[in-house]
Amino acid sequence: MPGLCPPGHRRARWPGGQPLGSGCQPQTGTARMGRHAHYARFLRGIMGCGERRNHALLKPDLQVSGVWEIDLDCLSEKGIAGIILDIDNTLAPWGSYEIPDRIREWVEKAKSKGFGLCILTNNYSSRADWFSRELDVPAVKGWVKPWAWGYRMAMRELGTDADSSVMVGDQLFTDIRGANRLGIYSILVSPLSNRELFHTRIKRRFEKMILGDKDER
Ligand SMILES: [Mg+2]
Repeated sequence: MPGLCPPGHRRARWPGGQPLGSGCQPQTGTARMGRHAHYARFLRGIMGCGERRNHALLKPDLQVSGVWEIDLDCLSEKGIAGIILDIDNTLAPWGSYEIPDRIREWVEKAKSKGFGLCILTNNYSSRADWFSRELDVPAVKGWVKPWAWGYRMAMRELGTDADSSVMVGDQLFTDIRGANRLGIYSILVSPLSNRELFHTRIKRRFEKMILGDKDER
């Protein structure tokens, strides 16, 4: 039939929508895969589904109860010079400004041992700046996890690379997965509180299944 394009092709059009002669062009990107498939791929990207080595990406290198349990000498022996820290439920209970004393002490100890520290948070608000000032460490904030650019910005602040950095956080699908994608040593801490965003509480159920643990996560 004249004017009918083969599967995977579309009629060539001007940007305004007018047909451009009778020529066909191969479809690419969103047009080829269909809008729903495109959104599905985007969501799979966020949730980490469908990626190769997905389970490996969601497996922390180390799991501890809290930041204060991380052995700084052990990190030094691994050649780690920069520590990237999550805020909510890692440095302080979710939504609060109360940094436990033992975490403050651990942070000061890390600084005295020569480690570089940087906060990496998906929190846009001035609260991230408050933590940065309070602990005197730089902060990279915005929608930065689990995306590679956020971790790269943090490593740029620290002057380290993936081999000499560690990510410390409480969430598998953001903190740990993002770090593992770049080959950064990843440490999962138990959340400091049960207060969380609604969607985080849903993700906790999946985390529990993946980790197979029976603690309070
Ligand atoms: Mg967190």
